[in-house]
Amino acid sequence: MRKYLALLLPLVLVACASVRPSMRIEDAPQDADVQVALAALDSSPDCNIPLELTVRFEPIEEGHRVGETSELPDGGGLLIRIDSRLTREETVDVIEHEWAHAMTWRVPRPDCHDEIWGAAFSRCYRAVTAALFPTEPLLGERPEGSR
Ligand SMILES: [Zn+2]
Repeated sequence: MRKYLALLLPLVLVACASVRPSMRIEDAPQDADVQVALAALDSSPDCNIPLELTVRFEPIEEGHRVGETSELPDGGGLLIRIDSRLTREETVDVIEHEWAHAMTWRVPRPDCHDEIWGAAFSRCYRAVTAALFPTEPLLGERPEGSR
């Protein structure tokens, strides 16, 4: 079953790649890295979200959470909330984490942090890292010609 689900994610992502729902950002911090991260995720074909998306930055008081993804009522798409009190690095990390939840929202499964989410998170991490550090190799990648 897990193997089946792992195979399903790329198919879901490819199927959704032709759909380009809109993204709305509310109260984003005026930080260049956060803006670059959001733009990278929104424009990356590897990080498509098959639903309308709102990303809202605000203090999150409940549940000691720093971010959360939920579905808006009446087909309003998804809402990603990011705690506005985080540091820049924490904010970028939480954006990648929640974006991966949004990417895999429509894949029913018992554990929302399973390998399907992990694969989506990897795509988010790579897209954001490539945008923030375009001249550096990604973690784990080696320069051409090396082993
Ligand atoms: Zn999570």
